[in-house]
Amino acid sequence: MDEPVSTFIRLSLHLFGMEAHRIELPREIIIGNGILGNIGAVCEKLQLEGSCFLLSGPTTLGIAGERVARELDSRCKVESAVVDSIDMAEVDKVIGKAKAFDFIVGVGGGKVIDIAKYAGFKSGIPFISVPTAPSHDGIASPRATLNGSNGARASYDAQVPLAIIADIDIISKAPYRLIASGCADVISNMIAVEDWQLAHRKTQEYYSDYAASIAVLAANIVSDSAEMIKALDQRGIRNLMEAIVSSGAAMCIAGSSRPASGSEHLFSHALDLLMPEKKSLHGEQCGLGSILMAYLHKLPWQRIVENLKKLGCPTTAQEMGIPDDIIIKALVAAKDIKNDRYTILNEANLDEQKARELARITGVIK
Ligand SMILES: [Zn+2]
Repeated sequence: MDEPVSTFIRLSLHLFGMEAHRIELPREIIIGNGILGNIGAVCEKLQLEGSCFLLSGPTTLGIAGERVARELDSRCKVESAVVDSIDMAEVDKVIGKAKAFDFIVGVGGGKVIDIAKYAGFKSGIPFISVPTAPSHDGIASPRATLNGSNGARASYDAQVPLAIIADIDIISKAPYRLIASGCADVISNMIAVEDWQLAHRKTQEYYSDYAASIAVLAANIVSDSAEMIKALDQRGIRNLMEAIVSSGAAMCIAGSSRPASGSEHLFSHALDLLMPEKKSLHGEQCGLGSILMAYLHKLPWQRIVENLKKLGCPTTAQEMGIPDDIIIKALVAAKDIKNDRYTILNEANLDEQKARELARITGVIK
């Protein structure tokens, strides 16, 4: 623990004559039942003291935020704030306040965690992640999804959490739709890794076998645990949480979101831009994108449909309340969302007709 993994890996790479690659990972990860009380000990171990800025959401404050605040109260000065908006103007206010504190703790769902990890990054203070829902794989990743100044959701560089405390008792009581959405986000790693391998072959982009294997393993474990997760079996929820944390670790090892974000995420980002007011969740959109992109990759896309159905995730545009023509437009636009991310979309060159065919064949539209 005292010897950061990054130093070891940097040294190893140096010895083998490869280009140095810096890896930053969380230092403490605790996943278990009834473990919120461990936060004081974790802070002590990590020598976090002084003042703590504790962020939670309107409902997660009562579910876990107040408890965490009480636990920390005996060892540092705690100031709590409720955050609910990922609009950059609101997030900037949080960053302005965060600068006065020694560390930041985010207790809540995806939104709260994203705000806290971005505020930690921007204000240069350590961040502890206490997720109350497994809604996406950002819990342990160095990226945050926020609404940019144009109002559209986008992904930003953020702080790798110094510690993650994931209480299974709390997480398994999260609204099931958030749990299913988190599963779909992890399942989409399969496509992301296919895209990454393709980019490596075609553009010689950096590729890590290790990071890719972890990401695929996480996707397989979630797929294999679908029935247990749907039944809210503790082992299933624990597998999901471990898969989400592993996905985040894969991104940390890769130094980018590559192992967990490919063409299916580009499709999701395109949907965000085309229809910012829609009600679908990030993971649900990536799940739908995975079906479509699996077809383009000539992978058994029907298996992804089956697994998503087992989990109770939407697999059609209609179930997600998205009009067919938005799906088509998103498919055509996805390739140009991130110019530096080579994916199967660069090879497929979808026009409107090809996109419509793809969406029809895979049953995403009628
Ligand atoms: Zn995602």
